[in-house]
Amino acid sequence: LLFAYDPAKRLARLKVNLEKAVVNARMIYEILDMEDKQRDAAGAAALVVDGGEIEFENVDFNYGDGTAVLHALSFKADSHKTTALVGPSGAGKSTVISLIQRFYDPSSGSILIDSQNIDNVTKSSLRQQIAFVSQQAYLFEGSIMDNIRYGRPDATDAEIIKAAELANAHQFILQQSAGYDTPVGENGVTLSGGQRQRVSIARAIVRNAPILLLDEATSALDNESERLVQDALEKVMKGRTTIVVAHRLSTIVNADKIIVINDGQVVETGTHASLSKKKNGMYARLNHLGKGGKAALDIE
Ligand code: ATP
Repeated sequence: LLFAYDPAKRLARLKVNLEKAVVNARMIYEILDMEDKQRDAAGAAALVVDGGEIEFENVDFNYGDGTAVLHALSFKADSHKTTALVGPSGAGKSTVISLIQRFYDPSSGSILIDSQNIDNVTKSSLRQQIAFVSQQAYLFEGSIMDNIRYGRPDATDAEIIKAAELANAHQFILQQSAGYDTPVGENGVTLSGGQRQRVSIARAIVRNAPILLLDEATSALDNESERLVQDALEKVMKGRTTIVVAHRLSTIVNADKIIVINDGQVVETGTHASLSKKKNGMYARLNHLGKGGKAALDIE
């Protein structure tokens, strides 16, 4: 009886592993600049980044089902500054982050980095200049060391440890059974949400790219973990051009510029101080509803 159902069980396990492999391959491609369907233009040059200013000019976009997601979206993220995108769920904030990395191309309008249209540069040179920290904080099969090294495959062990220290991850890593060699992922140790986030921040630090894209987590962490993640993020944002899909009040309040997006359009731009004064503005409404809670300024 055991042998009779064993192959089916093995098959089931194989299927799970295959699915996982697909997910991993896609995530690895996102980080390691492998091929995808957005082709380089003929004669595309390498992106040359100076300050890393990012500009959207009248960008229209839909995911292919005909429903417009972004409508003539225009804004500028200044070099070396932090720009926070806020707005209701479904407004198009994460889509903006995807378009900057050319996971998709606009249907019209342009996206410029230091005045170069990203359509006309090689994708690999574009992604080399970008570190992306997503709210899921993915970990791959492998050691903690491997997971940080995904940020830049030729990083030395010393550089990885330095990045982990800056990301407030070094201490908890040392407490694991095999330190930096401790396996994580499906067959490894389970890290808490805050620990995973700090590993992915270390990955971004080791990448050392001038542009940082951050999709901030919506799920609340406990206070200590929250403080460590926030502190690590502040360090990685320093000196870089950062665009953050912001959910935390502290991130939004500290941003150099806030872009309020609703229904794929920019409805307001300013700082926390200037936007809070516009009593009937969308930001003031979002802000009011967020009062008291440390996360989620989203309305609806
Ligand atoms: P949230 O704060 O909830 O993450 P958001 O402002 O980031 O929202 P987006 O994730 O950019 O919004 O989504 C904008 C719109 O595009 C939504 O209507 C969403 O359903 C749709 N959308 C997002 N991703 C895809 C996709 N891969 N395929 C089709 N539609 C999508």
